[in-house]
Amino acid sequence: LPAIRLNQISKVYSNGTVALQNMNLAIQDAEFVSLVGPSGCGKSTVLQMIAGLGQINSGSIEWGISDRQLAYVFQEAALMPWATVQENVRLPLKLAGTSKKYAEVLVQQAIQRVGLSGFERSYPRELSGGMKMRVSIARALVTKPNVLLMDEPFGALDEITRSKLNRDVLDLWSQHRWTVVFVTHNIYEAVYLSNRVIVMAAHPGRVVADIAINAPYPRS
Ligand code: ADP
Ligand code: ADP
Repeated sequence: LPAIRLNQISKVYSNGTVALQNMNLAIQDAEFVSLVGPSGCGKSTVLQMIAGLGQINSGSIEWGISDRQLAYVFQEAALMPWATVQENVRLPLKLAGTSKKYAEVLVQQAIQRVGLSGFERSYPRELSGGMKMRVSIARALVTKPNVLLMDEPFGALDEITRSKLNRDVLDLWSQHRWTVVFVTHNIYEAVYLSNRVIVMAAHPGRVVADIAINAPYPRS
């Protein structure tokens, strides 16, 4: 069984918009898949359906990962402005009821992995856009996900920051071997990052191409 399988998924929003129509997609374990396509073709909707946010109108999603642990990274870092970096990163563990002591270790590790050691007590307003996204990635990492869903996470950043973060995401991916579904409308970013690029079209949202990428990046 693939890690995630979408079987004939259709999604119609309450205003009648057909966001997805009979979409099929099988994602393998540890695959890094990008979804690309014009605005409105249903990329975010696919992620939401995978995450179980909102009803599917028809079709089903099957999972080949038994103990799945999902993490979602949005376009905006969406940090709590009144909380420090470490408090922001700790939030999912707090919600999960992780013991305080273990949480502290995990938070420390996650902050270190994204290169923000020393900024634990900083507030979001004191950080650059790229640093805020790093905090957001640390908050996703802290739960040790095996499925990482990212929705245009670096869309709002300048090219240099974006390419730095892309490199970091690849490094993290090669260490953790998550199954990643990455939404972008930047085809270059998709090709650089992924094993596989799914191209979607709009009206209604559907898959029009499924491309295997032979990346030069080492993926041992
Ligand atoms: P993308 O991520 O590719 O830009 P979306 O998944 O956001 O596409 O949207 C797919 C289609 O569904 C678009 O036509 C969009 O306007 C519509 N849509 C998305 N969310 C909603 C919603 N909550 N209510 C109604 N229509 C929506
Ligand atoms: P990012 O790419 O994550 O936005 P940059 O390297 O572009 O980070 O830095 C943006 C600003 O934040 C710069 O002023 C830089 O000095 C500061 N900065 C970023 N990371 C660190 C760090 N680890 N230590 C000290 N300053 C940092």
